[in-house]
Amino acid sequence: MKKIQMVDLSGQYQEIKNQINSSITQILETSAFINGPEVHAFQKELEGYLGVKHVIPCANGTDALQIAMMGLGLEPGDEVITADFTFAATVEVIALLQLTPVLVDVYPDTFNINIEALENAITPKTKAIVPVHLFGQCANMDAILALAEKHDLFVIEDNAQAIGAKYRSKNGETYMAGSMGHVGATSFFPSKNLGCYGDGGAIFTNDDQLAHTLRGIVNHGMYERYHHDVVGVNSRLDSIQAAVLRVKLPKLDGYCEARRNTARAYSKAFEGQEHIVAPKTINGCEGICDVCDCHVFHQYTLKITNGKRDELAQYLAKKEIPFGIYYPIPLHKQKAYLDERYKEEDFPVTNQLVKEVISLPMHTELDDEQINYITAMVIGFVNR
Ligand SMILES: *Cc1c(COP(=O)(O)O)cnc(C)c1O
Repeated sequence: MKKIQMVDLSGQYQEIKNQINSSITQILETSAFINGPEVHAFQKELEGYLGVKHVIPCANGTDALQIAMMGLGLEPGDEVITADFTFAATVEVIALLQLTPVLVDVYPDTFNINIEALENAITPKTKAIVPVHLFGQCANMDAILALAEKHDLFVIEDNAQAIGAKYRSKNGETYMAGSMGHVGATSFFPSKNLGCYGDGGAIFTNDDQLAHTLRGIVNHGMYERYHHDVVGVNSRLDSIQAAVLRVKLPKLDGYCEARRNTARAYSKAFEGQEHIVAPKTINGCEGICDVCDCHVFHQYTLKITNGKRDELAQYLAKKEIPFGIYYPIPLHKQKAYLDERYKEEDFPVTNQLVKEVISLPMHTELDDEQINYITAMVIGFVNR
C-alpha cells in the first residue's frame, strides 16, 4: 500500500507535471513575474467559472478577507458576526481592522453558523456577517441573505474551504459558493481544494463600484499611478502562482468529484456505526441529495461520540494514518479573542465539537486500498 498522506500534493503534481512545468518555464522566459498576462487570464477564467462579474486576485486568503472588509468601508467599533468554529484567520482580520468580532455557535451536523444564534447576536452596531463555508459546504445562505437584507448588513463569504461547491437556493437557482454575498474571499494555499504552489488568494464580487475600490486597495490605495486616495495594502498574486492555477482550474470539478468519491466510500463504510457520525450534506438541498455537488469535502470530518476521539487519534498515529483535529479550541476561548460578553452556555455545540471531531486523510489521490485500510482501523478501534 502507498504511504497514506493527509494531503498528497506531490501525487497530484505528478499527474499534471508536464503542463505545470511548461507553464512555469514560460513565466521564467518572459520574466513578467508580477501582474503579468497570466494573472489577468486567470482572473478572467475564474470569473467565468464562478459566474461572478469581478475577481480581484491577491496574496492569500487572509488578505482577501481583510481587503473585502476594508473595501466595504467598515469602521472601528462596527460589529461583525462570524462562526465560533472556524480557522482563526476569519476573526483575526476583523480584530486587526479594529472591528468587533462577535462569535456565535454552529450547527452540530454541518458545522456551519447557527442561524438562530446569528439572529440573536444582531445589534444596532452590527454591520456585517461572515459566513464560513466550513469543510467544503455552504452555510445556510438563504437564511443569511434574508437576515442581511432585513437588517441592512453586508455578507462576506469566507470561501477558503469551499471553492467549487454549489448552493441550491430555495428560489430554485443554483449558485457557486462565494458568489452570493456582497463579496466572497478565497485562498489558494497549496492544501486548499484549488491550491497553488505558494500563497495566493482572491476576492469576488458582482458590484462594479466595490470591485473598483478593491482593485485600488490591493495596490497601495492607488487608482491613478502615485495618487493614493485611500490607505491600501500590497497584496498580489504572482504570475507563477497564476500559471499553476490556470492549469488546475479546469481540473477543479474533477478534483472535487474525486474528493466526493472518497467521502462516499468513507461514509458507506461508517454506515450503521453507533459511535461514529459521518459528515452530513444538507444545507440548500435538504432531502434532495445525500453526498452531492453541494459539498467539496475540503475536510472529511467525523464525530466520535463515545469519548474516545483522543485515543483514536493516538491509535491512528501508530498505524501511520494521518488525521487532523479541526479545530481543537473554539475561537471564543482563544486568548486573543476572549470577550466578557461570551457565555459558555451560548456555545454548547462548539464546546462539544472540539472534543469529538477528527478529520481523515482527504485529497484527490486516495485509492480504495488506502480508504479500506483507514475505515477498517477507525471502525476496529472505536468498537473495541
Ligand atoms: C485557509 C483559510 C483562510 C486563510 O487563507 P490563507 O491563504 O492561508 O491566508 C481563511 N479562512 C478559512 C476558513 C481557511 O480555511
